[in-house]
Parts: sequence; structure tokens; C-alpha cells
Amino acid sequence: MSEPGDLVVVGAGPAGMAAAATALHGGLRVTLLDAGPEPGGQFWRRPVRAADPAARAAHPRRGRRTYRALCAALSAHRRTGRLTLLTDHHAWTATRGEDGFTVHAVDRSRAPEETDVALRAPALLVATGAYDRQLPFPGWDLPGVLTAGGLQALLKGGGVPAGARVVLGGTGPFLLPVAAALATRGAEVAAVCEASGPSAWLRRPGPLLRRPARWAEAAGYAAVLARHRVPVRTRTAITAAEGTGRVAAVRTALLDADGSPLPGSERRIAADTVGVGWGFVPQLDLLVTLGCPLADAGDGSMAAAVDGGQRTGVPGLYAAGEACGVGGAALAVGEGRLAAVSVLADLGAPGRPNPRRLAAERAAVAGHRAFARAVAGAHPVPPGWSSWLTDDTPVCRCEEVTAGAVRSVCADGSAADHRQVKQLTRAGMGWCQGRMCGPAVHGLAAPGQPYAPAERLIATPLTLGALAGPGEPPPVPS
Ligand SMILES: Cc1cc2nc3c(=O)[nH]c(=O)nc-3n(C[C@H](O)[C@H](O)[C@H](O)COP(=O)(O)OP(=O)(O)OC[C@H]3O[C@@H](n4cnc5c(N)ncnc54)[C@H](O)[C@@H]3O)c2cc1C
Repeated sequence: MSEPGDLVVVGAGPAGMAAAATALHGGLRVTLLDAGPEPGGQFWRRPVRAADPAARAAHPRRGRRTYRALCAALSAHRRTGRLTLLTDHHAWTATRGEDGFTVHAVDRSRAPEETDVALRAPALLVATGAYDRQLPFPGWDLPGVLTAGGLQALLKGGGVPAGARVVLGGTGPFLLPVAAALATRGAEVAAVCEASGPSAWLRRPGPLLRRPARWAEAAGYAAVLARHRVPVRTRTAITAAEGTGRVAAVRTALLDADGSPLPGSERRIAADTVGVGWGFVPQLDLLVTLGCPLADAGDGSMAAAVDGGQRTGVPGLYAAGEACGVGGAALAVGEGRLAAVSVLADLGAPGRPNPRRLAAERAAVAGHRAFARAVAGAHPVPPGWSSWLTDDTPVCRCEEVTAGAVRSVCADGSAADHRQVKQLTRAGMGWCQGRMCGPAVHGLAAPGQPYAPAERLIATPLTLGALAGPGEPPPVPS
């Protein structure tokens, strides 16, 4: 067990980095850990091999100055000894006791060896981000079908376009940078299938119009797509993937107002790679285990419920970034800073930002949140998505549970949400613990209800050796 510091931050993405830098600046001793090989998270993911210029080119220009400033601040505080940075450390559970929190992390820096590390602090900040929301369709389990975030991570982390001819589908502005990055890196993007229509953006124009920088960014991607002649098809979804042993084509269809495919609108597009993303789902494992209350994020998922200072309903526990609702890297940075300011205040630390700077940060966060809500409103998951599932479409790929099996336990009233479906069918009980299929199973069982993940006391698969390691034993399920 390590000596306790003042604050443990789990997740070194934009939110966690900003929180750690602010807390360190205010005089605290911080442990910052991340499952990845270096800080940056999803947005600032960099190639593992530092010399890969192709992958470096995929590193976003937006926010680069903030990234560099945060890296410099963290390096400086490492030298003073007040920051302990633990990369390749995956927090697999956390507990709360009388004198604060204990975070158990599995150290994979010497993989395949795994050891358990227990970290203690009076305050814990969870900034674990989000993961791609997936909706199944016939053929989605074929090799060559990936998530849109996965395609982006391959580009950023390794400079690798996953295929030569790619079709992207789903909904949300994230499809545009992925398509632009693929096209720039030499892939032929045969189509971007966006389920929403352009008029969806006109329903709540206020927050959108107040963010001219985001429009400029979107215009930049549109220019790249136009230059590479990438067709963007709105009100269109990928309804099936076909191929023998690997994807060879997708079927797409125009969607009606309900999101169901319009008869006669089907097309077939040849592709060796498919990327699908229906927005993101907050990563809540540690927060749910600690009893953190959740709130409807307005985009089909529940997220950590926080006050204006990013405090959760559990004393001493803070959350920031996409665990509190999806909204992009700039919002994550702002929330990370606000969370750290609350930690400084609650621990009675002397260093805090001046009130004017704090007020400006709060206003910026409010603006980013309003924008994120407007984007979510313009890019909902279409209610009729389940109509493109055949009964033999696998929904839970780990346990090979089909849409028909899920439908049958819902139709006879045995299951009303994804937890009950899991008990009856094993959907969500496999290796990924429902991260891939949970939102879809929930969408089939309780359409229109926001998805909250089930409690998982162990947030990542780990060896028995690590489980029995030097830290305290894991909590016993009640
Ligand atoms: C695959 C993917 C790719 C994305 N690419 C882009 C993009 O190119 N452009 C864009 O604008 N937005 C992108 N996003 C959205 C992006 O997540 C946010 O805009 C931004 O990075 C959010 O910052 P964050 O700090 O909240 O979370 P993240 O950046 O996701 O950072 C969270 C960090 O927590 C770590 N973590 C999670 N759980 C644990 C744990 N239990 N133990 C230890 N560490 C943990 C992760 O390794 C990660 O580094 C992407 C999202 C995903 C899921």
C-alpha cells in the first residue's frame, strides 16, 4: 500500500490532466493514473512509437497548446515529487473508508506480469471518459467492422488506416473527423451514413450559433471531405454488413421519421472496412461501485450526477469529463479544472484561482454543456433502430445471445431492463461485461429509457495473482 497523497485522479485524458495540473498548482500531492501508456486520453492519443510521423500528423491541432501546457505542468510537478504519474495502471475497483478512498489498480507496465497497487487519498477524482455506443445490425460481427472510435484510435495511435475502402455510419459530429482523417491518410471513404437529417440542427439553433469555432471546425472537415469526394448521406443508416470471412459490402437504407428503413431505398456499397458509432457512453464502473448517484445525460445514457463544482453525491468523490456526460475535450478540460478547485476548497488548501478566472471557467463550461446538449438533441439514436435486426442477429457477441433471444424474454414480460435480460439470457456476462452490448440490450428491453450500466466490482479482467496481490482484498459483493 502506498503512502497516502491528497488526491488520486483516475484517468489522464483532458479532464484528468487538467484536474491534476490545477490541484498540483494549488499545492496538493497528486497521484494520476491511466490504463494507457501515456497521458492524453482519447483526444490527445499519440503514437506509441514516438518516431512515427504519419501518426503524429493525426494528432489534433485543436487544443494542442493546452495539451503542451498541461504536459509541461505535469512534468514540472513530477520533478518536485508532488506528482506520481502511473501509466499502464488500470484501476479495477475503489472503496471508501473513514479516512478516504483506496483505489486498486493493476500495474501492467511489465506485461504480461500483473501486480496490484493500492493507492490511498482523502479525495478521489474519476475522469475515466467514455466509450463508443454500438447498435448491432446483421453482419456487425464480421471481421472488418469496427467502432468509429476504434478506427480513430488506430489512426492516432499507430498511423494505421484500418482499411482501403471504408464506409462510416451512425450519428454525431464525430463521424466527420474520422472520415476526414481516413481520407487524408489515403483510405477511400465510400460513404458517411449519418442517421440524422440536416434540419435537426435547426431545432435548437441558439447554443449552436454561439459556438462559431465549432462551425469553423466542421467546415474544415467538410472541405476535406469535399476535396476527397466523400459522399455524406443524411437520414441514412448502415442496416447490414455482408461478406464471407470478412466484410465485403454494406447495405444502407434511408430512414423514415421514426428511424425505420424506408422500403425500396436500400443500396449496396462495396467496402473492406466499416466504422460505426452512435455517440459515446460514459465509463462509470468505479463511480457506480462507490455509490455515486447518476443523472440522465439527455443522450440516451446516464452519467455521473455532479454539482456546479463537479462534486458527486458521495463526500470526497469528484467526477469530470465524459463520465459526467459526453461533450468533447474542451468541456472535459474545463470540468477537470473546476473539480480540482472544489478539491482544493474542500481540503482547505491555500492555492485557488482568483474568483474572476473561476467565474470565466464556469461560464465556459456552461457554454460547452449547452452546446453538447444541442448536439445530442440533433443526433439522437433513431427510435426505430431495432427494426433492422433480424432475430438471428447476435446482440451479445461474447455470449452469442441473439436479438431473438432478447426479444423473447422481453415480449413475455420476464425482463424489463438489461440486468434482467442478463440474468435470463447471459447477454452482458462475457469478457466485455456488457460494454459492447449493454446499451443495445437495454434499448431492446426498455426503449426510450436512458442506459445505466450494472454495478461491476471488477472493472477490468485481471489475473488471480493480481487479485491476491499486496493491496487489500476486494470488497465482497453484498
Ligand atoms: C475511442 C475514442 C476516440 C475518440 N477520438 C476523438 C477524437 O479524435 N476527437 C474528438 O474530438 N473526440 C474524440 N473522442 C471523444 C473524447 O473522448 C473526448 O472528447 C475527450 O477525450 C474526453 O476527455 P476525458 O478526459 O473525459 O476522457 P478520455 O479522453 O476518454 O480519457 C479518459 C482516460 O481514462 C482512462 N481510463 C478509463 N478507465 C480507466 C481505469 N479504470 N483505470 C485507469 N485509467 C482509466 C483511459 O485510458 C483514458 O486515457 C473519442 C472517444 C473515444 C471513446
